[in-house]
Formats: sequence, C-alpha cells, structure tokens
Amino acid sequence: MDNNVFFKGKAIIDEQFNILSVDDELKDFLGDNLVNTKIARLIHPSDINQLETAVKNVQSESGFVTALRMVDNTGRYRWFVYIIDEAEPADNVCNSRICSISIFDIRVFFKHTDTKADNTYMEYFSLMEYLMFSYDVSTDRLRIFMMESHQQVDFYRGTLADWRRTMLANGNVYGVTRNIFDSFCDDFANGTEIFEREFKMKIFENSQGMEWCLVKGKTIIDFNGKKHVIATMSKISPVNDEEHVYLNSDALDVGTDILNKRAITEYTKRLIESKPGCPVTIAIIDIDNFKTINDEFGHMFGDEVICNVADVIKESVEGKGVAGRIGGDEMFIVVEGLKSNDEIRNVLRTIRNNVSFMYNNQPDKPHVTCSIGSSTYPCDGQTYEELFNIADKMLYLAKEKGRDRYIIYLPDLHEDYVKGKGMPNSEAYMFYKYKKIGVVNDIVNAYRKNGKDCIMESADKIKRAFALDSIFIYHHTGEAWERKIIIGNKDIAEDNDYLNDKAYIADFTEDGIEVIDNINFFERRAKNTVKAFINMGINQAVQIIVNVSDENDVIVSFNRNRQMSKWSEMDIVYLAILGNIFGNGIYND
Ligand code: GH3
Ligand code: MG
Repeated sequence: MDNNVFFKGKAIIDEQFNILSVDDELKDFLGDNLVNTKIARLIHPSDINQLETAVKNVQSESGFVTALRMVDNTGRYRWFVYIIDEAEPADNVCNSRICSISIFDIRVFFKHTDTKADNTYMEYFSLMEYLMFSYDVSTDRLRIFMMESHQQVDFYRGTLADWRRTMLANGNVYGVTRNIFDSFCDDFANGTEIFEREFKMKIFENSQGMEWCLVKGKTIIDFNGKKHVIATMSKISPVNDEEHVYLNSDALDVGTDILNKRAITEYTKRLIESKPGCPVTIAIIDIDNFKTINDEFGHMFGDEVICNVADVIKESVEGKGVAGRIGGDEMFIVVEGLKSNDEIRNVLRTIRNNVSFMYNNQPDKPHVTCSIGSSTYPCDGQTYEELFNIADKMLYLAKEKGRDRYIIYLPDLHEDYVKGKGMPNSEAYMFYKYKKIGVVNDIVNAYRKNGKDCIMESADKIKRAFALDSIFIYHHTGEAWERKIIIGNKDIAEDNDYLNDKAYIADFTEDGIEVIDNINFFERRAKNTVKAFINMGINQAVQIIVNVSDENDVIVSFNRNRQMSKWSEMDIVYLAILGNIFGNGIYND
C-alpha cells in the first residue's frame, strides 16, 4: 500500500479488545495482520493504556478522541486518530460492551497543506511538545489534552465558548494575534475542513509568558455522521521555522505567494527578540520605475511583474529567511545568521541579478530592475523600527544613485546621511528625500535675492548634501588657469596643468559638464590628468565649465576624495545648476 495515501476505516471491538468486524478499508490497510487478532496487538505497546482508558470511558464520554500508533500492513507503526464511541451490540453478540472505532490516518491533517508534514507531526508526538484539541461541533464540547508517554493529561474540558471567553478575558492571547485566535475558534465552531493558524498565547494558565503556537486542524466526519474537529498545537520557535510562517493563510499577501506586511513585520520583530545578539539582516526591495512599466505595458502586466519579483525574492532567501510584500512594488526580506557583509552581498546580489535577468532574451518585455537597501541587527540598530528606518534610507540612496543596485548600510559611509545632523527622526526622512532639491532651491532663491554673497555661505550645505570633500573654482585669465578653493583644505596640491590639455576641455558635454566617476578613466587618454587628481587626492568630480565672458572661462569642480558609486543623474543636474551660479556669481557679478 502506498505509504503516502491517507486512510480512514472503522472497527467494532468488544471490551476485551477482540475485533468483531472491520470495514473493507481497514481490512485492506491491515492486511494479514488482521487474522484472528485483538486490536491491542496492533497498537504500539506504549499506547495501549490510552486505548484502555478510552474504552473504559466510552459510556461516560462518547466520541472520545485519542491518538495512537498502530501497525500498518508493512509492519510499521504509524500515528492514527481514534474516535471511540459506544456501539449497539448486534443480535448475535453477548451482552459485552462493544465500541465502534473510527480510525483516521494522522496524515489526514497535513495531506493538503504541507508535504513535510509527516515528519513534522512525528516530531510533535515524540517530543510531546504539543497539545491536542478535540471538539464536537454539534455539542460545542472541547477537550484540550496533552500526550504524555503513558497517559493523556487533560487541561480543559468544557465548551469552546467558555474557553474562548476565559482566554481573552484573562489576557492570555497576545494583542495583535487576537484576530487570528478568533479565526481559530471560529474554525472549530464552523467545522472548517482544514486550517492552520499561528498566534501567540499563554498555553497554560501558570506559564511564565506567551508562546508562539502553531495549530493545525482538520474536521472529520465520523461514521455516525458527527463532525469532530481535531487539532494539534505546538510551540514554535520563530528561528529556523521560516516555512511555518507561510502556512497561515491570514499571513499571505493577496496577489503574491509571500507574506503580507503585518505578518513579515511580526515575524521580524519576533526573530530579533528571540535570539538576542544573533545577526538578523533585513532588506527593502523596490521595483525601479514601476509606474512606467504599468503605463507602458498595462496594469495586468505590472501585476505579473510583481509576482515574478516576489518569486525571485522568495527563492533567494529559501532556507535562510522569509520574504514579504510591504507595499505596491515594495518587498521585504529578513534573513538570519549572515555574519559578514560578503554574505549579505551574496543574497542581495542574487536578488538584484535575478530580477534584472527576469525577462532576459524577451525583447518584447521591459528590462525590470530593482533597488535594495539593507541593515543588520544588532550592529546597525537594536529595534525593528531603527533597522527599517536605516534600510529605507539606504533604499532611497540606491534610488538616488541611479537605481538597479543594493546598498548595505556602512556606518562610516552612511551614518551622517541616516542621522541627518540633529534633525528629529520623523523629519529626517523627508529631509533626506528632498534634501538636495531643497538645498539647490534655497541657493537659487538666495542668489536671486541677495546676489553672490550667498554663495560662500551655502557652500557648506552643498558639501554635506552631496557628500563632497572640496569645491574648487578655476578661472582662466587668458594666460593660465588659477584656482580658488571654496571648500576644502587650503593645502591641497595645486596642479592646474591638466586643464591646459585641449583634449580635456573638449571632453565636456555641450552643456559644459564633465563627469568623473573614476579617475582611472583617464589612464590611457591623459596620464597627466590622473596624476593631477592623485596629487590632489580626488577620486570623483563633477565639473562645470561656464563661459562667463569672451575671455573669461570658469570651471567649478565639485570633488570627492572617496571612491563612491557613480554620480547619479540628479546629482549631475543639481551640480550643473549650482556650478553655473558659482561661475557667474563669483566672476560676473
Ligand atoms: P521608483 O524607481 O522611484 O520606485 O519609481 P516607481 O515608478 O516604481 O515609483 P513608486 O515605487 O513610488 O511607484 C509604485 C507604483 O506601483 C505606484 C502604483 O501605481 C503602482 N502599484 C502599486 N500597487 C500595484 C499593484 O498591485 N499592481 C500594479 N500593476 N501596480 C501597482
Ligand atoms: Mg518603485
């Protein structure tokens, strides 16, 4: 018999456990084991007591539910749910009490939900870390009990309604999971066919704290046509338990196969709390220019893109973390145990690359890319909120730097950006989002009103907003280039000669812009330029040439000593505006 096919059957036994009759299904299932036997012979020795208790109690409590290991036709023990009822003696049988047993393969619980379920279930039973619930829909009678190795320990017998009320009144259910607890109770009351719920509660009245519980339940109809709900509840640790979180249908995002915002947020908070000090990395992933994709390919296609990106993300964290959707085109991952930036980079790079390759070789589809910002507990922040805030800012930075990239928070590089120089936290977010345009606006307006005086005053703001180390103004006097330092150490080596190379000036765009992302770019074409920049300690620059008058050319050079990502389009535009103000303002006012 196929081990994976679940089974249900029925037997009639007498008080001495003699099998009086079995239905065809049970006969098939037990095979040769059935010949001339007592049912006790089929039951695991450790579980016999339970059967005895059940049969003894059958008069006082019909529909007694228990779980027993029973041998199958291959000679192996498997778990079964037994529902034991008193049965009418048939005419030809003496007056011994007889019982009818409805037997359900335990797999019935998991058949439709979880392929790894059998192992999981065995684990629950062997660890005895679970409670069983049995509930009679017609009478509202609930029993909660625990399987000890030789007996069942009852924790509750009464009505579901009473239990539910007491649990809530005593505050035994964790606030934000109360609605899940309610759904779970409704599943019992309504006899939901199959259900799985995760919520946090105090399992025993005298427990210290609340525990996350996973409940798996199923409604079965016994041979008397009565509905029984059977459920197991196990304590779950959120750590290494990622697959569990996807099983709760309340936790899933509508439209994709990943968690919704509430569920992933809860999960992440739990994870951080559960193992103080162990690394937990989060990342926010946002699809680039998604509005354009919607506009050009339609909303339906947009939805498909979201699903595909969700799949890529889920796959990339499989086995190590969990993925969720936190906004329209915004997703989130949480991964534990990444010990170095290299390990984090591997995960984020996989997401970035796989999103970018999604419609590779499909010329009729758009090139979809995403931007990612990431932070890690405990080194970057102590709480979920802190970590989210940092990752969110890194995402913005990734967008500003030109999209299609991931940024891992590095305090040395990003702390100022994140902290926003004394700005209160809530405003800091807006400050950084609009910081550059704000700085540029202020300067343009000040220049219009007050003329060149504002320029030196504003230089410091520009330095901070664009992460610059120095700003030079070169002035061509007709003979040679002279340099004035607006920002930066006055001792910076002066090496203006590279500007005399005609090829260098010819390289500026028609709008008078020269973008230097990496000085190695000049390596082959202009060795002097590389040398000059090395002398000055500059690695990146945006230069604007302003033709102030016939004889007057001015170059404004916005410089960075550090090698950072490429200048973004927006940076270049803003600096071009500022460069023109500086050039004209200083030499033409
Ligand atoms: P950016 O690169 O800055 O992220 O640009 P963007 O165009 O992606 O801008 P943003 O992330 O702000 O826009 C997200 C858009 O996604 C807004 C909304 O019209 C669209 N959207 C939100 N939810 C859905 C959805 O479920 N399906 C589809 N097709 N579009 C959605
Ligand atoms: Mg977007």
